[in-house]
Amino acid sequence: MTLAILSALPDEQSGLLPCLLRPERVVRAGRTFTRGLLHGQPVVLALSGIGKVAAATTAAALIEHFGVARIVFTGVAGGVGEGVNVGDVVVAQDYLQHDMDASPLFARWELPGYARTRLACDAAMSALLLEAASAFVSSASGLFDQNYPDARVHHGLIVSGDRFVSAAWESDRLRDDLRAAGHAVLAVEMEGAAVAQVCHDYGVPFAAVRTISDRADDAAHVDFPVFVQTVASRYADHMVQVLLKKLRN
Ligand code: SAH
Repeated sequence: MTLAILSALPDEQSGLLPCLLRPERVVRAGRTFTRGLLHGQPVVLALSGIGKVAAATTAAALIEHFGVARIVFTGVAGGVGEGVNVGDVVVAQDYLQHDMDASPLFARWELPGYARTRLACDAAMSALLLEAASAFVSSASGLFDQNYPDARVHHGLIVSGDRFVSAAWESDRLRDDLRAAGHAVLAVEMEGAAVAQVCHDYGVPFAAVRTISDRADDAAHVDFPVFVQTVASRYADHMVQVLLKKLRN
């Protein structure tokens, strides 16, 4: 029952790598995978690189080559929903590709051939991630993250697309367009919906947790690198450790 822990960027994963027991590095499809034991459980840490295609390739390799039984994505995202702020954590309930548009053949955002717009994450794993995120955020506010004393945990829709959203007008339009169609979006990133689709195709449970690195606004290009370099991996590290302990019980 190997668990894959997938991230897009090295900084999102770096805290976990040193904790791996008996690490074995495998390069496949130009990507680095590291097998090992984390809290006594077999895991594969994987780096996808940025964007939906890169993420889909990596997810398929994890399933076909490494035979993983489930995939968790940990990384960062831009906050789009009201009250979703830098330092908050979002656990995905479901995913939508915000740049999928085969209209007028299909409704905007509908996945052609799937007869649906949103793909759900695994409820049991997401519930564990929510517990892990809540435990982390309440400890972080007092203990190690003075910068985000009011950090909150959210659960809901995350959207993905091949764009770094870095303008307030664009993020406002994304939120408003989606809301008009009944989709209350919390955060935007560039990989999760692709992984959700691959996992849906293979029947592999998938869950995702994203820490908010920026507000997908005019300051996003400044906020993002600072957050990723200073706090992202620490968040991932703590949440995954708690998740693994919970999965074991
Ligand atoms: N400058 C970076 C590229 C970052 S792309 C580099 O050179 O490596 C942003 C990454 O963080 C993506 O993997 C995406 O999933 C996530 N992300 C964070 N904020 C985002 C935003 N505002 N819009 C889209 N993706 C975002």
